[in-house]
Amino acid sequence: MSQRVYLFDTTLRDGEQSPGASLNVSEKIQIARQLAKLKVDIIEAGFPIASPGDFEAVSAIAREVKGVTVAGLARTNFEDIDRAWEAVRFSDQARIHTFISTSDIHLKHQLRLTREQVLEAAVAAVKRAKSYTADVEFSAMDASRSDLEFLCQVLEAAIAAGATVVNIPDTVGYAVPDEWGRFIQTICSKVAGIEKVIVSIHCHNDLGLAVANSLAAVINGARQVEGTINGIGERAGNAALEEVVMTLRTRKDYFDYFTNVNTEEIYRSSRLVSSLTGMKVQANKAVVGKNAFAHESGIHQDGIIKERTTYEIMNPAMVGISKSNLVLGKLSGRHAFRQRLEGLGYNLSADELNSAFIVFKKLADKKKEITDDDLEVIIDEEIRRIPHTYALEYLHISSGTTIVPTATIGLKRNGQLIEEAACGNGPVDAICRAIDKITGLNCTLATWGINAVTAGKDALGDVTLRITIDGRKTYMGRGISTDILDASAKAYVSAVNKLVWENRLVEDIAK
Ligand code: MN
Repeated sequence: MSQRVYLFDTTLRDGEQSPGASLNVSEKIQIARQLAKLKVDIIEAGFPIASPGDFEAVSAIAREVKGVTVAGLARTNFEDIDRAWEAVRFSDQARIHTFISTSDIHLKHQLRLTREQVLEAAVAAVKRAKSYTADVEFSAMDASRSDLEFLCQVLEAAIAAGATVVNIPDTVGYAVPDEWGRFIQTICSKVAGIEKVIVSIHCHNDLGLAVANSLAAVINGARQVEGTINGIGERAGNAALEEVVMTLRTRKDYFDYFTNVNTEEIYRSSRLVSSLTGMKVQANKAVVGKNAFAHESGIHQDGIIKERTTYEIMNPAMVGISKSNLVLGKLSGRHAFRQRLEGLGYNLSADELNSAFIVFKKLADKKKEITDDDLEVIIDEEIRRIPHTYALEYLHISSGTTIVPTATIGLKRNGQLIEEAACGNGPVDAICRAIDKITGLNCTLATWGINAVTAGKDALGDVTLRITIDGRKTYMGRGISTDILDASAKAYVSAVNKLVWENRLVEDIAK
């Protein structure tokens, strides 16, 4: 029968130890809420004694995020454990996670303790934690480099003292899958009482093996996997939970295990963690990278269009990505081009498709990747020939840190100049308001983004934005200029032109 693997997410503890990633309390709560939606089993919310901020975050998550176990980390000293309990006590499923090193390297050089002292400290810590909560996890830090006999002795003592989860970390990312699997198997067969507890592993990615090691451990008896979203963490990071989950699910034929995770929340979790920590996800990252479901080669694109499973082992919808991306570039054929346009809602005649394809090929020679926005511009300009009802004549902005941003704008319509001025929360907002005054439309800016077209200080800014009136349909506009405010104004005007044309809002358009 298929067995459950519990997921222990330490994005907020080990993940936050990533160089450069630091989160404030409200950001941690946001991530914890998302982790609860993702349905991980345990959230390690922080290391309460480490700082008042950490304590506050763990305690807020324990109070506010329900339906999930909340763990607080503690060394073996009682101050740590008491503090961890204070932080997690208001969770309805509170866990204390206490740890001490068991490797001789750490004992000798860092802790300066004998093996006997470590054993005693572990037992005392577990007992102290157990006096607060039934759910106690004990970790033998640097287990992968520990003497196996001694490690087993410590784990046995921790279980006898009341630990309900014993974690075996590869703290420094030293393990390799086959050997690590046998190591876990030995522990599972040798340690007295191990059948009463959950065996956990915590693998680091120093050699790029964290996920492989985690899975090898599962096959050999581990039932809790610790890891982080996007694999962030100390040094090269931890096992990426999304990869563990999707491997178990995709290769169900091989791994007879299941998790409780709602995989459709994976992508959203990844994006949230990436944006709040500022740690970008590499494009070729498994499962959640920008290119994870992108197909560039013409042969692959052709296969995907005929049948998705020809080149995709996972359905992107399963991880919460709405569609896979056929990357349109100069190698793409007419078939992929038409399919993408249809996906965007354009049904062109054969003639229109031909002329659009010619423009597309020309653009693809200059630009490596043609985006959906590029395609929309091609269609708007070349095929639909949307009339320029309004044209930007001039733009004047005053902005700064001590004044209210104000925009004065002149637009031409039917050869007539119309001028207006408006204030805003920022210069872009002021521009949008001034244009709205001229057009009499009350548009909402749905998105605004900028890309540098070229490198260097004189780079051209390419602003793409979307506006909406009813909150449903959005109209895309684009503007390019060395001045990003000028680019924004042009983009806004082009979106307005599309909106008025599609909705027939003006009768007197000069074509
Ligand atoms: Mn770690």
